[in-house]
Amino acid sequence: MKKDGAAKSTSSDGSSSYKVKKSRWYDWKWQLKNRITTVEEISKYVALTQEEKQGLDLKERLVFGVTPYFLSLIDPFSPNCPIRKQCVPTASEGVATEFDYEDPCAEEKDCPVPGLVHRYPDRVLLLATDECASYCRHCTRKRLAGSSKHVLTAKMMDKIVKYLSDNPKIRDVVVSGGDPLTLAEDKLEMILSSLKKIRSVQVIRIGTRVPIFLPMRIDEALVSMLKKYHPVWMSIHINHPREVTPDVEKALNMLADSGIVLGSQTVLLKGINDKPEIMKELFIRAMKNRVRPYYIYQCDPARGTAHFRTSVKTGVEIIENLRGFISGYAVPTYVIDAPGGGGKIPVSPNYVVEHKGKKWTLKNYRNNRYEYIEP
Ligand SMILES: *Cc1c(COP(=O)(O)O)cnc(C)c1O
Repeated sequence: MKKDGAAKSTSSDGSSSYKVKKSRWYDWKWQLKNRITTVEEISKYVALTQEEKQGLDLKERLVFGVTPYFLSLIDPFSPNCPIRKQCVPTASEGVATEFDYEDPCAEEKDCPVPGLVHRYPDRVLLLATDECASYCRHCTRKRLAGSSKHVLTAKMMDKIVKYLSDNPKIRDVVVSGGDPLTLAEDKLEMILSSLKKIRSVQVIRIGTRVPIFLPMRIDEALVSMLKKYHPVWMSIHINHPREVTPDVEKALNMLADSGIVLGSQTVLLKGINDKPEIMKELFIRAMKNRVRPYYIYQCDPARGTAHFRTSVKTGVEIIENLRGFISGYAVPTYVIDAPGGGGKIPVSPNYVVEHKGKKWTLKNYRNNRYEYIEP
């Protein structure tokens, strides 16, 4: 972006500021290849603060990388920009508290074979790659993301397939990472087709932020490949209404038209989306684009993310301000993924005021009291 303020527009076609042809801008491989990864490059587009310069200078931190597309949504003059805060590191990333963990959800201890996390009775998480289109500063899987440590080989996939075949109770496989949609089509298809061949696997889910970071990746070739593996569900990591650009809407509608069931996952982030009005707008926009809000996550205590974490009360209050005020379909479940490996635990407002024998005293969304008597 030039410093003429053009970047302030929420238009997602940043091709002119980048002085590239539209056809290039909309080429997802060009976007990935031309990710902004250094202080020098980002300084050309964003007026960096001291805090951000220090963050970029940190020796040991999660990889910095952002697609030109996502960068074009940043306000180059406001360090409080919610898009900017999610992808430009700050000095706070170097601060670890005593409650921070390398592996906050203790996934490593639930890996029966490399690349697979088996925690729940009927479903597993498959880590397909450690690469993402852009890197979220609040990443829960910092220990892996962007490290090039986790490349899923054909041999590893064979072991995963064997484990799943030996454990027919597993009927639902969440393919995540990293971001599986950054993989080449043939590699992704190798994963999906291997899963599809396992008789007990009924549902494939893809966890991704590509429709937000790299919406041009969602093209005809991809959706026609994905729909061969139905039922396919997709959980899209989306945090702020400003992320829903016309390009993103187009991508979401292509995915929905191809029959993929879309859900959203949102991380509650201090100073980014920790206000009921922001969440409300986000979920209304999601629903309008056939994305069903699924989870709001309390930010996991990954090392160097304390500055993003809100109180738990903030999350509960957000739910209280959504429930009853907007469609029930637009209200996700607020969860804490328990440190130590307990899995996702819902934390909800309490609508039961009192329960005595057959009498339940309840409060509604407007805080009025009602009684329900059981037969
Ligand atoms: C989140 C998660 C799942 C999927 O959980 P759902 O609540 O069904 O979406 C499965 N395995 C692991 C390890 C997870 O963290």
